[in-house]
Amino acid sequence: MALHPGEPHYEQALSELFNGNAAACNPQLVFQPLDVAEVVEAVQQARRQRLPLMVRSGGHSRFCAADGALMLDLAAHFTDITLHGDQVSVGAGAGMGAILRHLAAAGRTLPVGTHATPGFGLLCMGGLGHLSRSLGLTIDNIVALKGVRGDGSVFEVFEGCADPIAWHWLRGAAPFLAVITEATLRTHPRQPLLVRRSLAAVETLAEHLQQAEGLSRQWSSSFVLGVPPDGSEPALMRYLVGAELDESHCPVAGASGSSWTDQVPGLDAVPAFDLPAADGRVPAADLPCSDRHQRPRTWIHAISVAAGHSEALAAVLTNAIGRLPNRHCRIDLQHIGGAVSDQPINSSAYRGRGAEWSVVVTGLWPAGDEAAELNAKAWSDGVFDALEPISCHIYLVERHPGTPRYGCQLQKAYGADLMALRTLKQQWDPDGVLPALE
Ligand SMILES: Cc1cc2nc3c(=O)[nH]c(=O)nc-3n(C[C@H](O)[C@H](O)[C@H](O)COP(=O)(O)OP(=O)(O)OC[C@H]3O[C@@H](n4cnc5c(N)ncnc54)[C@H](O)[C@@H]3O)c2cc1C
Repeated sequence: MALHPGEPHYEQALSELFNGNAAACNPQLVFQPLDVAEVVEAVQQARRQRLPLMVRSGGHSRFCAADGALMLDLAAHFTDITLHGDQVSVGAGAGMGAILRHLAAAGRTLPVGTHATPGFGLLCMGGLGHLSRSLGLTIDNIVALKGVRGDGSVFEVFEGCADPIAWHWLRGAAPFLAVITEATLRTHPRQPLLVRRSLAAVETLAEHLQQAEGLSRQWSSSFVLGVPPDGSEPALMRYLVGAELDESHCPVAGASGSSWTDQVPGLDAVPAFDLPAADGRVPAADLPCSDRHQRPRTWIHAISVAAGHSEALAAVLTNAIGRLPNRHCRIDLQHIGGAVSDQPINSSAYRGRGAEWSVVVTGLWPAGDEAAELNAKAWSDGVFDALEPISCHIYLVERHPGTPRYGCQLQKAYGADLMALRTLKQQWDPDGVLPALE
């Protein structure tokens, strides 16, 4: 179905986007395909009219809508989830939480991100979360992908298929080459998990990072730095997840501050990965503003850092958190390593396998406040610049085309293979309707 500006369904499609920057955009057309033939039609229309093709799955990024673009909204109809044996086939509009809930009912699970709401932008690029250290990235569990190339042709790739180049690049760089319409993934038995959250002083970060880097892969110790919902000063939350339910086997003691332990039946039921209030609760998020143009805006960097840099990493982040532009900005440290580093570096287009940490720096400001925007962006860019010398990779779900940092981000994401990716893009997306690699 094609939706045009001014129509109620067009407004609704944009209002439903999670990302405030994207929700405020005015695409020339929103297209909600019913099947693969209609995805082909949308790609061909974008090519004919030379329109940027913005693919929307979970709607979490700035890149699913743009002024004057053709927004391809897969979330409307591509939502089927089918379990067959120990594999699951998923339509590209399904959110990770919906997949986890579906699998939970059958006693299965999948390593996905820390929040339930992201979609295929996560699945196509990596997928880092609380089970990455034991079960790998989401892309490591893909067994087949179907989709439509940027030139409008339909394809299918799978493990061991006759096109190893496509198989390599579509896991970690698909958004530059194609629209994925369906993925099939390997699932795992759903396991009860112990989650221990604790609050500590920001100054203890280096010590916490060192401790975390010594954990076995059955444990994951991620962190959030920011201002708790009922606080006024920044704090550090440690978020420890393990498949060991006996608390006495927990490898690290509770912090000197408050701590809370939950035993949950699976990844689908873990507590929110957000700073809690003093009673351990995370208040429900406010309903998004009904005016889609007035939602908060974000400017986010995702920087990968290897183990062994805990002092330098903590020094940069402690300094940054002391200069927060406002209480809504935050820094997450997602714990990776473990099973992620088992795969050879060239097993997919994701090249952050040497990292122990994915540092996600979120600058956030109210729509229309230009001074707050400048501050939040300068803060987030400043943390990127300070971490870049110790980074080993950039996780390109967050990218900044049109800025001086984009060249460095592309180089750090794809390394020496960037030229090969650009060559493939010329073949697969000859009119450049999908996101640029320049
Ligand atoms: C609150 C929050 C929590 C997050 N937590 C994590 C986390 O724990 N782990 C993690 O790895 N990442 C995490 N992320 C980052 C997230 O993976 C990216 O923002 C991702 O781009 C979101 O994908 P989406 O489908 O929701 O967004 P969308 O904006 O719909 O898609 C993002 C982009 O991906 C591409 N894309 C999406 N679907 C397709 C498709 N079917 N075919 C081709 N290209 C496609 C398009 O370029 C699209 O513009 C988080 C983001 C947020 C906002």
